[in-house]
Amino acid sequence: MLRILASALLVCALSAQAQQYDVVLRNGHLIDPKNNIDTQRDVAIRDGKIAAIEASIPASAAKRSVDISGLYLTPGLIDIHEHVFIGLRHNAWGNGDLSVQADVMAVPNGVTTIADAGSSGWRDFPEFRHRVIDTAKTRIFAFINIVGAGMANADDVAEQNEHDMDLDALSKTIAENKGIIVGIKTAHWQQPNFDSVQKAVAAGTRNHLPVMVDFGWFDNKSYEQMIRTILRPGDISTHVFRMPAPLLTPDGKPAPYMLDARRRGIKFDVGHGGGSFNFALAEPMVKGGFFPDSISTDLHVDSATGVMLNLPNVMSKMLALGVPFVEVIRESTTNPATEIGHPELGQLAVGAVADIAVLRLDHGHYSYADLAGGKVDGTERIVPEMTLRAGHIVFDLNARTAVPWRQGHLKYATR
Ligand SMILES: [Zn+2]
Repeated sequence: MLRILASALLVCALSAQAQQYDVVLRNGHLIDPKNNIDTQRDVAIRDGKIAAIEASIPASAAKRSVDISGLYLTPGLIDIHEHVFIGLRHNAWGNGDLSVQADVMAVPNGVTTIADAGSSGWRDFPEFRHRVIDTAKTRIFAFINIVGAGMANADDVAEQNEHDMDLDALSKTIAENKGIIVGIKTAHWQQPNFDSVQKAVAAGTRNHLPVMVDFGWFDNKSYEQMIRTILRPGDISTHVFRMPAPLLTPDGKPAPYMLDARRRGIKFDVGHGGGSFNFALAEPMVKGGFFPDSISTDLHVDSATGVMLNLPNVMSKMLALGVPFVEVIRESTTNPATEIGHPELGQLAVGAVADIAVLRLDHGHYSYADLAGGKVDGTERIVPEMTLRAGHIVFDLNARTAVPWRQGHLKYATR
């Protein structure tokens, strides 16, 4: 009897030891541009981190094994231009709320990290931190608006107020939110000068952070002048394919000043949004070899319910324009991670946090629209299948982790 018990204990101990991982994702095609991996690999997770990446890891080595044959396994997607906050006092003004609940759009779209792009300035940042950033499943960073009131109203009035650009108050809020605030945002500036951009750059220099610029009005100042003379290496120009930015030479090639800017380290971000993505710019730029550095949504209620839709849809548009799949993944993982000063994210190395997207690449005939009603045809569409955030399976489109319900001995809630 004692011997039977001892051997039973031994079996238990062995199986516990054999199940050294929490989860193993098997038979997927791993793409990790940062670490130059583009091949079939099994990935094991323990304690929320990547524990092993091998050609083969047995299912028995983990408490839960998931077969993802035929699917791609990539770092969790990173979207550095979203709008996930509007202050309660602004709602009270009756301006409506165009921001989106972060997890609702991130989790089912393979997105594990986002950066809010200037929805909040320093006045509302504590509320943003407490109510949204600290409660979401999604990892949320923020570009803080150069204007204290942030994007207080949908008609951009607050962002025209140069008297609400207080660098001391801004810098204090940045110091109080180290590791969360990853840059300064200036947007929708309508004046015939660069005051807002220059103040944002001054704040960026003082706080050692990049600036993200939405250029605003093109008819009274020069985009080229801003790119050439104001932005620093590491600063980000979002809405890169917004009309009528003069990105092209008369014969339709990427303008030399854009190539110069890229060499100097200025970053160009998609920021599709509800008014900032046009194939008339995007296609000749991409065909001319000028891919965006990062693909982002400019997520808000109008863009999420319009032709932008979600990040995988914007990524699919870049595929349709001819950006190779591995580059599309690079522009949605390691590139944006690096732009926001978090190069440890957006990769799948052993020891990295287990933020993972499992993606299906469908092949067929698809069409994609821009914001002028133009379209391009493509042969591929990216469909998110699973999302893992710090090792937790938070999205599973095809119920790969569920069991047939009759066999599952499932416990159902009774109330
Ligand atoms: Zn935006």
